[in-house]
Amino acid sequence: MTDLRIVPPKPFDTDVAVVGGGLAGLTAACRLAESGQGVTLFEARSRLGGRMLTTGVPPVADRPWIDLGPAWFWPHHQHIRALVAQLALPVFEQHRDGLARYEAGAGSPPESFDPPGSADPSLRLVGGMAALTRALYAASQAAPTPVTIHLDAAVRAITVHNDHVVLNGDGVHCTAARVIVAAPPRVVARDITFVPPLSHTLQATLADTVTWMGHAMKCVATYDAPFWRDAGRSGYAVSWGGPLQEIHDACMPPHEGTPAGYALMGFVAPRTSAAARAFREQSAEARRTAVLAQLARLFGNEALTATGYAEYDWTRDSFTCGPHDDVPPAAHPEYDDALLHGARTDDPWNGRLLWAGSETSAVGGGYLEGAVASGWRAAAAIRASGSAF
Ligand SMILES: Cc1cc2nc3c(=O)[nH]c(=O)nc-3n(C[C@H](O)[C@H](O)[C@H](O)COP(=O)(O)OP(=O)(O)OC[C@H]3O[C@@H](n4cnc5c(N)ncnc54)[C@H](O)[C@@H]3O)c2cc1C
Repeated sequence: MTDLRIVPPKPFDTDVAVVGGGLAGLTAACRLAESGQGVTLFEARSRLGGRMLTTGVPPVADRPWIDLGPAWFWPHHQHIRALVAQLALPVFEQHRDGLARYEAGAGSPPESFDPPGSADPSLRLVGGMAALTRALYAASQAAPTPVTIHLDAAVRAITVHNDHVVLNGDGVHCTAARVIVAAPPRVVARDITFVPPLSHTLQATLADTVTWMGHAMKCVATYDAPFWRDAGRSGYAVSWGGPLQEIHDACMPPHEGTPAGYALMGFVAPRTSAAARAFREQSAEARRTAVLAQLARLFGNEALTATGYAEYDWTRDSFTCGPHDDVPPAAHPEYDDALLHGARTDDPWNGRLLWAGSETSAVGGGYLEGAVASGWRAAAAIRASGSAF
């Protein structure tokens, strides 16, 4: 006798819909897919990774190696370290041997100083953060039920029904048993309509939650050789002379057929100063000239021989920044709101709406660490309930 097993059709398009394909959304999606759940991920941009943005610059323009978003994680960040180890991604320590430079103001002659050592060195990924995005994408496709990924798919509305949710947006229509929203809270508050509406408290919490580093702008100059290292300098500098405020060595070891890359990277002063606002409004060519002139002041005229230049102003990126995110907070926010990290709920969504994203994490909130912790937390909450339904 043939053993006929009748499998009822799944009532919805997917078990879990994930909004946002940054580190948090990808880690949540992978965890759920590994346990056999059907996952559909919607990403507004035409690429995965979110704030993880790695680009190529001549002479290796066709291979990404320059991080214009996050570059570092730290030994005490256990979730991101566990993920990197699980994916077997090679890691190296931020270069910091040699003297640092200090510029007290415009026109002040730069000085050298010997910064105190740190027991908690900054760690980087060989190949940049693109290596992590690529590995997570590969894992999402190798899972028992590969994750369905839609790019250029901004979610604009999420409606809860008795036993499911409906997502609508740019080319998006999807029914799911549950949804994990893994986009920055302020972006969610501005861009996504919830039906029925979220409570006033929750809506206000989303709108008040600063997107970490949304105010940032990074500029990178690439070179044929690390001339600053050869001169006994680490590449680290602190400057009040502008336009860059904090500068680091951004060299990359050779990897997967890509030769070593040599670079200096700097964070532009925030928009709160008139000079920084004016710098950001200039043409890209004028900004490049100003950045190289500053690097030459700090590290010598070889800095003018840059082979390439790249920059990214995150304040102009509406998939990262919500209202007021162009202004940096006075200190690193706590990111401990129980409504966002799931310890408390005041919505009528019967647990069908879960939050992820670094800014929803009480652990390492704002950092890559918080993104991974929140993605795993949301996935664990669904797995703990037995099924998505
Ligand atoms: C310049 C810079 C430097 C940084 N440096 C560091 C560092 O060195 N170390 C560190 O730990 N952290 C650093 N950070 C912070 C780190 O980048 C973040 O903590 C982390 O990347 C957040 O991941 P996430 O998935 O929570 O959010 P995101 O990466 O912001 O991902 C959210 C995703 O949601 C998408 N999205 C938005 N709206 C919608 C919508 N309506 N529909 C669908 N998708 C949507 C976005 O496009 C994005 O892909 C830095 C950030 C910046 C900008």
